[in-house]
Amino acid sequence: MILYKNTKAIFLATSLLVLSCTNKPKKVAQAAPEVTTETKQPNILLVLCDDLGYSDVGFNGSQDIRTPELDKLAGAGTMFTSAYVAHPFCGPSRAALLTGRYPHTIGSQFNLAANGKSTGQGISTNEQFIAKTLQESGYYTGAIGKWHLGATQEFHPNQRGFADFYGFLAGGHNYFPEQYRTQYEKQKKANKKVIRDYILPLEHNGKEVKETEYLTDAFSREASRFVKEASSKKKPFFLYLAYNAPHVPLEAKEEDLEKFADIKDKDRRTYAAMVYAVDRGVGAIVNTLKETNQLKNTLIIFLSDNGGNTDHGATNFPLHGRKGDTWEGGYRVPMFMYWPEHITKGEKNNYPINSLDLYPTLAHIGKAELPSNKILNGKNVWESILANEDPHAKETLFAMRHREGYTDVSARKNEWKALKVSRQPWKLFKITEDISEENDLSSTHPEILKGLVGDAEQWSKTHVEPLWFDPTYLQKIWKDSTMATFNNTFSLPK
Ligand code: CA
Repeated sequence: MILYKNTKAIFLATSLLVLSCTNKPKKVAQAAPEVTTETKQPNILLVLCDDLGYSDVGFNGSQDIRTPELDKLAGAGTMFTSAYVAHPFCGPSRAALLTGRYPHTIGSQFNLAANGKSTGQGISTNEQFIAKTLQESGYYTGAIGKWHLGATQEFHPNQRGFADFYGFLAGGHNYFPEQYRTQYEKQKKANKKVIRDYILPLEHNGKEVKETEYLTDAFSREASRFVKEASSKKKPFFLYLAYNAPHVPLEAKEEDLEKFADIKDKDRRTYAAMVYAVDRGVGAIVNTLKETNQLKNTLIIFLSDNGGNTDHGATNFPLHGRKGDTWEGGYRVPMFMYWPEHITKGEKNNYPINSLDLYPTLAHIGKAELPSNKILNGKNVWESILANEDPHAKETLFAMRHREGYTDVSARKNEWKALKVSRQPWKLFKITEDISEENDLSSTHPEILKGLVGDAEQWSKTHVEPLWFDPTYLQKIWKDSTMATFNNTFSLPK
């Protein structure tokens, strides 16, 4: 955690996760030039997929889903095999990515409910998004695709540091405009008070647009449009390209489905085709970067917002669990970084990295000044990445999911991971040797378990009450089960 003006509560957190900028500098790999004052600010393209499984891309071992464009970039960059997001489902994970804070510490530990326009909720405006921080450092900024961080005016992407926004504000969307528009127009004609988010028209900077393309293609097209516009400005760009693919509904184009005729399962085949559409799109954007002579100076980061939904075509093999879990399958995601001449080519980085690290790391390479009161729960990992060293060797990384009346938690430090799920006793895994979380070592290493559970309990003291609940009936369960004080979540057998 990087602290600028600390408070007592935050200090507590600092002693856990932390790392301030006073850590001694790490050695930097010789081949990889450090970002120095002479290096100009790079363009940053952050590609986020929605519910993409750990091994559902070629570069992470998929046997049936082909992703040649992503694989090319991953192979020419560094792949992260132990990349974590800060929460195992959509909204809180995105809030963490863009604010640099664990969602539980800013009241956004639940998804924003559907029909956000009517509920009027969103991520606290006290939290400055990374887009705003980069914008203030001279970046031309854009967000394309899914938002899910607040649908009313004050929470709109244009208010959070994105000069350009094309996409939708809700948590998901149907993919074929000619199909969803018919439903939308019918409901509008019938004067339906609240129309389902998934069929609403897309927008460009607050203005309704009449999209005609398959959504993934539309977002790739808009990303290329943004990249072209950016090249005419005398500014670096930051583009947050948040595809809603391959999140449900499973809807794919015929031409993409044909590529996966060998996959028998219908859901898996459709899902594969949806991932392939993202791959095609990223390939097209890379071409635009080449054509506009910007590729060399562009850092491309690719990751998923959470684990794959195994009920709907995804696989997280060899990880246990799925979207929503504190098992690895819930929040360990496929990830790579590509930046020619900076990020090491063809390297595999097996150290834990967290999506919370992106805010301070991007601010560093974008030479941006952090707001004086900004609290960050991750750290600048740039030098560790270049040196292929563990950026979190002395820290514990957490995930926590509140369920109906109880809480699932995980705490990872170096090779160990403590896990609490489904009201069962805490388990302990040597995660570096047991990636599938099969051998519970809690009884042979009780002292290690105790340390990790203690870290998680201290961390939980930095949490605040949720600003909203999803589904809303959880509010009553939260109160009745005294979930704010975590019941017996952190108790261990005597
Ligand atoms: Ca998601």
